[in-house]
Amino acid sequence: MTRKSLVAGNWKMNGSQAANAELVDGILAAAGQARAEMVVCPPPVYLESVGRRLADSAVGLGAQNLCEQEQPGAYTGEIHGTMLTDLGCRYVIVGHSERRALYAEDDARVAHKFATAQACGLIPILCVGETLEQREADATENVLSRQLAAVLDRSGIAAFNNTVIAYEPVWAIGTGLTASPEQAQTVHAFLRGQLAAADATIANSTRLLYGGSVKPDNAKALFACPDIDGGLIGGASLKAAEFIAIAAAGTDH
Ligand code: PEP
Repeated sequence: MTRKSLVAGNWKMNGSQAANAELVDGILAAAGQARAEMVVCPPPVYLESVGRRLADSAVGLGAQNLCEQEQPGAYTGEIHGTMLTDLGCRYVIVGHSERRALYAEDDARVAHKFATAQACGLIPILCVGETLEQREADATENVLSRQLAAVLDRSGIAAFNNTVIAYEPVWAIGTGLTASPEQAQTVHAFLRGQLAAADATIANSTRLLYGGSVKPDNAKALFACPDIDGGLIGGASLKAAEFIAIAAAGTDH
């Protein structure tokens, strides 16, 4: 089976009603150039208005985070997964390194969020990645195995039938440094191997995105790698022309 390329834009804490309208209109106007499935993940307060603007288009809606609690209720400031599906979200980013580092999301919490996302009918985009110190200490594979195992142990391999994994080396996020296609491919092959040890068919169908300073000029070489099925895009997803150019580099495998 073919894995359809996916390019997801993580807008992080950026945007305004006016800026979002301009960005979405720019993406929709050029969407025909994309060879990848496209998803945008605006801040939660803008999900509804962005979702309305995307209605009936080929561009999907995703959230950047969700609450791990199984049931809605007395959790001030949190957002339940059912609220995200209610607004039309199909995807949700889980375990982004900024949430792990700045909001104390450890592996157990990420695994809990992952399970709740699926229970709510959302497709998790599970982020994993090593810091520069970990890479330099030759600990990349250990870190990624640990991050993946937390989710596998809790949800089981069958959960990956409907999951996207984003490999995002922390040292490449927002820094302008990008993993070379060879570095990224090596890690993606390792991640697919980890899944294959549990189920080769699921491993072969799971989309593995690369994230970390992807731009129009490096997307093609990255996405051409056999185990890189698209990208999770931060900064460049805030400019319609760049996001479209990256999506135009999408390659199905
Ligand atoms: C991200 O935050 O997921 C990301 C990949 O950011 P950037 O593209 O800006 O490095």
